[in-house]
Amino acid sequence: MKKNTKELKKINTEQLIEDGENYLMNTYGRNPIVFVDGYDSTLVDSKGDEYIDFLSGIAVTSLGYSNEKVKEAMKYQVNTLVHTSNYFYIEPQVELGKLLCENSFADKAFFGNSGAEANEGAVKLARRRAYNKYGAHKHEVIAMKSCFHGRTLATLSITDSEVYRKGYGPHPMGFIFTPFNDVEALRKVIGENTAAVILEPIQGEGGVNPVDAEFLKVARELTSEYDCALIFDEIQCGMGRSGKLFAHQHYGIEPDIMTLAKALGNGVPIGAILAKGDFADVFTPGAHGTTFGGNQIATAAARAVVKEMLDRDIPGLAAETGEYFKSQLLKLKDEFSFVKDVRGMGLILGMELEIKGAPIVKEMLSRKFVINCTHDYVLRFIPPLIITSEEIDSMIENLREIFKSQ
Ligand SMILES: *Cc1c(COP(=O)(O)O)cnc(C)c1O
Repeated sequence: MKKNTKELKKINTEQLIEDGENYLMNTYGRNPIVFVDGYDSTLVDSKGDEYIDFLSGIAVTSLGYSNEKVKEAMKYQVNTLVHTSNYFYIEPQVELGKLLCENSFADKAFFGNSGAEANEGAVKLARRRAYNKYGAHKHEVIAMKSCFHGRTLATLSITDSEVYRKGYGPHPMGFIFTPFNDVEALRKVIGENTAAVILEPIQGEGGVNPVDAEFLKVARELTSEYDCALIFDEIQCGMGRSGKLFAHQHYGIEPDIMTLAKALGNGVPIGAILAKGDFADVFTPGAHGTTFGGNQIATAAARAVVKEMLDRDIPGLAAETGEYFKSQLLKLKDEFSFVKDVRGMGLILGMELEIKGAPIVKEMLSRKFVINCTHDYVLRFIPPLIITSEEIDSMIENLREIFKSQ
């Protein structure tokens, strides 16, 4: 591993952390670390310490911290035009839309600024289509237990977690939860009033839970039968992370609408709604919009990201590295009885424990590895897709040492 050689900006770390406590809303239990630089899959903190990253800023920096193509694309855009509004054609936006459509099931794209916004727009799209074709009664949206779709009011209505929902009611009407991977339960709730079924092909925040092939097949059949939208939220599992460009490609089943965000801009905020057939033509001027969405800087970055992913077959790399990574996690499962399960695909992997994950995440951080825990008991590994087997080995070795002392 190469070491960072750049001169680091000098900052008063303690003062910065104190100011953060005083001036920022307390929405995250932040670690007392300030990262100031990065390269490949390594983050460098203000003291010059280097950390190997298995979080990618929550599945965002899939190409790592020093991809030249993405940097160059952004530099060019900063030096020419950053923003004009969607009253005009935007070159990188058009090209990004074309690239995504040519490499997916979709016919058309809409760009916004975040994942929640993409899901919000996808629900609006599905409802407007149902309304146009059948009337206002067809408005129900079915989401899955333990799913996560975002933090806005509508996306909270399709996010199954009391922690996120509590105290924000009354929640909007017409949203229903059904158990994930339960075919019979889905059959019972879907009907003439359903406008959309939304699911993550691999649930991320919910603990890395891949969808069952049979469930996905039935969801496709039922949504077609009732002529409502099947929406795949690939905000976390998409963009190569699962080992294919889009996770649903493992199953050979296509949605009507798909949402993307996170890794699409490798850190530049951007979200996308992709749709096919008559779903692609639902929005007309005035029906939906955004000021920032799809602007030059965001789409120039995302265009470079998609090109890199395709040119270098990053999904293939993720598949290969992920297979090795998973085999190493499975070894730990054999060695330690408190490891209940290892699951996931490509480089979205989860390890379910019988003990709480948070202290392990903290101990790993002190050993200079950034890992993460979701759902209290599931260690989640979502590294940059360029992570090396050496980096994986050293993380696994440290995890093994911590596990031994449990
Ligand atoms: C992160 C995430 C979102 C929300 O994205 P934001 O950009 O934080 O609004 C939605 N769905 C899934 C599956 C996610 O992982």
